[in-house]
Amino acid sequence: MSLSVFEIFKVGIGPSSSHTMGPMRAAREFVLGLKRDALLDAAQQIAVRLYGSLALTGVGHGTDRAVLVGLEGAEPETVDPDSIEPAIARIRQSGRIRLLGEHEIAFDEPLQLLFMRHERLPRHSNGMRFTALGAQAKVLREEDYYSVGGGFILRGDEEEAPDAGARAPPPYPFTSGAELLALCREHGLEIFELVLANECSWAPEKEVRAKLLHLWEVMQACVERGFRQSGLLPGVLKVRRRAPRMYRMLTESTSPPGPLDVMDWVNAYALAVNEENAAGGRVVTAPTNGAAGIVPAVLHFYLRFEPGANQEGVIRFLLTAAAMGMLYKRNASISGAEMGCQGEVGVACSMAAAGLVAALQGTAEQIENAAEIGMEHNLGLTCDPVAGLVQIPCIERNAMGSVKAVNAARLAMRGDGTHKVSLDQVIATMRQTGADMSTIYKETSQGGLAVNVPEC
Ligand code: SF4
Repeated sequence: MSLSVFEIFKVGIGPSSSHTMGPMRAAREFVLGLKRDALLDAAQQIAVRLYGSLALTGVGHGTDRAVLVGLEGAEPETVDPDSIEPAIARIRQSGRIRLLGEHEIAFDEPLQLLFMRHERLPRHSNGMRFTALGAQAKVLREEDYYSVGGGFILRGDEEEAPDAGARAPPPYPFTSGAELLALCREHGLEIFELVLANECSWAPEKEVRAKLLHLWEVMQACVERGFRQSGLLPGVLKVRRRAPRMYRMLTESTSPPGPLDVMDWVNAYALAVNEENAAGGRVVTAPTNGAAGIVPAVLHFYLRFEPGANQEGVIRFLLTAAAMGMLYKRNASISGAEMGCQGEVGVACSMAAAGLVAALQGTAEQIENAAEIGMEHNLGLTCDPVAGLVQIPCIERNAMGSVKAVNAARLAMRGDGTHKVSLDQVIATMRQTGADMSTIYKETSQGGLAVNVPEC
C-alpha cells in the first residue's frame, strides 16, 4: 500500500481524528452501503455500539455527535462546523434521525447509541458496530468498523484502507526511511521531489500543488480564527483560550522584542490551532487532530522567521513531512489508542522537524536525522486526556511539540546528517513502546493526568 500526502493531511473538524472524524466517516459509510444495496428505505431502526477507547472517551471527544451527523450523511471534510450543533439539537429533541438526509426514522439515542465501556472489538481499541433493522426488528445488516487513527477507518476484516489499495503503484514506493534515502540517492531526487513524483502519478502536478496550498490556507485560517476567538472552550474543564491573549501581547507590546519572542510565537500558533480543534472547528489533520497544531506552528515559524522563506518552501515542507507520516503510519501507528501520545504529538513533531529541514533545503540525511530526533525525545509519551477532552494536556503539548520540532531541525541542520540512531530504529522503538504501554495510558482516560487532575 502506498499512501498519499492527502491521506496524511486532511481537512477535517475537531476535536479528534480517531474519535470524531473516523466515527463520522464510518457512520456515513454504513448508511451509504445500505443505500447502495437498496436497504435504506427498509431500515426502521439503527443501533450503534461504541467499544474500547471510543466508549471510554467518546463523549469528551464528540464521538456520539459525530456518529449522529455521520448517519445523516455529513463528512468531516465538507461539513460546516456551525451546522453540527443545530442538527444534534434537532435529533435529540425530535427523537428522529434522517439517514443520509433522505430517510427519516425514529431514533432513541439512550437506547440506540450505546457506549460499551467494558468491551472492545478484537482488532483495535476504537471499534464500532452498526446494525440496521427492518420490519419485525429483522437485522438487515450489521457491520463493524474501526477508527485506526488520523481519520482512517477500516471495515470488518479489511486489511487496508479501502481506497488506498485501488490506486496504481507509484514510481517510487518506499516502506522505510532507509529505502526512501536509497531511492533519493539512486535517482538523484530530494525527498520532496520523490513524494511529488509519486503524487503526480495519481493526479496532475498543478492539482497536487493547488491541494497542498489549500491545506496551507486552511491551516492559516485556523490560526487566524484561533487568534480572534475568546472565552472558554466547551466542556466541564472550563479551559480558557490562551492564544488570543498571547497574540495580543506579541503584537501590541511596546517593549523591545526579547530573544525568546520567537518561541512565544511558535507557542501561540500551536495553541490557536488546538484551541480551535478543541472547540470543534475546522483544522487540518496533521497527522491527527490532537496533534494538529504542530505542523502549522512550525510552518508559520518558517515563514515568519526564516530569511528567504517562500511558498515553494511550504510545498517542500508539506511533502517531506507527509513522507515521514507515511513511514509512521505504515510501520507503527498514528493512533493515540494504540501508541499513546508518542503516536500523535511525537509523530507530528517528527514530521514537522523533517519538513522544516526540507524547507530550509537541508540534505535528505539531515531530514531523516531531524525526523529521528523529533521522535526520539517523545518516546514513551502517554495519552491521558483529562475528562476525555482533547484539551489537557493536548493543547499545551502541541506547543511543546512545536518548539521541540524547531529544535530537532536545528540540531540536524548543525550536523552533516550522520548519526547513531536511524529513523527506522526509532519508529520500531516507538511501536514496541506503544505495544508495551499499559492500556490506561492509551486514550482511555483511566491513568496519568486523567485520574490525578480533578475534572472541575
Ligand atoms: S494526550 Fe496526545 S494522544 Fe492523547 S488525546 Fe491528547 S493529543 Fe491525542
